[in-house]
Amino acid sequence: MTTTQFEGVPSLAGEAPGRAGTVVMKFGGTSVADTERLLAVARRLVAAREAGNRVVAVLSAMGDTTDELVRLAHEMSPEPAPRELDMLISVGERVSCALATMAIHDLGHEAISLTGSQAGIVTDTAHGKAKIVDVRARRIHEALDENRIVLVAGFQGVSTDYDITTLGRGGSDTTAVALAVALGAEACEIYTDVEGVYTADPRLVPEARKLHAVSYEEMLEMAASGARVLQVRSVEVARNHRVKLHVRSTFSAADGTWIREEDERMLEKALISGVTHTREEMLYRVEGTDPARLFAILAEAGVNVDTIVRTGSEILFSAPAEDHESARDALDGLDVDWTARDDLGKVSVVGAGMKSHPGVAARAFETLAAAGIELEVVITSPIKIACHVRGEDVERAVLELHRAFQLDAPEAERQHA
Ligand code: ADP
Ligand code: ASP
Ligand code: MG
Repeated sequence: MTTTQFEGVPSLAGEAPGRAGTVVMKFGGTSVADTERLLAVARRLVAAREAGNRVVAVLSAMGDTTDELVRLAHEMSPEPAPRELDMLISVGERVSCALATMAIHDLGHEAISLTGSQAGIVTDTAHGKAKIVDVRARRIHEALDENRIVLVAGFQGVSTDYDITTLGRGGSDTTAVALAVALGAEACEIYTDVEGVYTADPRLVPEARKLHAVSYEEMLEMAASGARVLQVRSVEVARNHRVKLHVRSTFSAADGTWIREEDERMLEKALISGVTHTREEMLYRVEGTDPARLFAILAEAGVNVDTIVRTGSEILFSAPAEDHESARDALDGLDVDWTARDDLGKVSVVGAGMKSHPGVAARAFETLAAAGIELEVVITSPIKIACHVRGEDVERAVLELHRAFQLDAPEAERQHA
């Protein structure tokens, strides 16, 4: 059995003893897609301020701005310099924050927009996937003390070399959680385009149900295995600093999903919390090197290795499709035989309940076999079973597993036997 390893985060300086009533509210791309929605967000922030809170907002870029900026960069150059790419793609979040701040002024409130750098978000120097190493929140505190609503551009920071960095796709979640930690906020509200974390991607499985509460560990596994709703890193930071996350809809007042510490009820309640998937995952087969050397070089190249299997002299590992160029260069630089498959995706069942209920793996394998879906590689952790299957089988695998574990039924009606 292997366990997915998650890196610890350095302690965030400025981690404050809880200041009463500080709220961090993060709004994703769809939630700020046009000026009308930005105005709705501005109203929501003002309402939170009028309720007496110290309000810090983290905004994403409008709609598909980030995709569009990445596309522009590649239209200009086949391999844009990482530093310049970060200069470019960090801009989208600034646009959202400046516009929303203007709207807040017109609503009669004090507000200020800050870039990640101005907000004191210090990162390492890994362009495109920088990690936050410190939050120097002095300027935010000053603005809050002046009764302003503070809007921080998500997804970015300034490196220890004074360059603008970005935190990887979905990185505004991590900005929000890091700020919640640094400001001592009680919880971090993640506003998005669905009502919470579901038993599967609601866009793929219409019968998916909203989960009321998910443990940090389950959410880490779900995020790492494809549930796009939270960036993995944001969950790591939340877990390491015990900050509760509330994932909820921008477009309704409904209660969403709480991500928090595991408790007894979670374990007994549900066998499986969710089925997650990724449509594309590269699977590499390497011969003729030792794992220590191989994974050191891959880590240096910034490849996010997930599954690792070693049998005899062969090493098998998977990594996200977007890391393929880095992986290819790293492997070519080693004197090894390697091949890669790009026709696979991955479907995973995740649940803390697995620890106390045997038979989950058997049921998952039977279900896939009955549907004629072949398993290429299977990997388990104490709370996850992940199966690589052919890309074209991914959707069907998700639907079949969701049905087999009765995730479309209320928890109380599911059969655990
Ligand atoms: P935002 O722009 O607000 O950050 P994202 O697009 O990053 O939003 O994440 C929200 C999306 O995550 C949803 O629209 C949904 O399609 C997808 N998603 C995938 N798996 C899940 C899941 N298990 N629960 C909820 N959403 C999920
Ligand atoms: N705009 C960035 C992205 O699309 C960051 C974010 O929205 O969280 O990945
Ligand atoms: Mg996101």
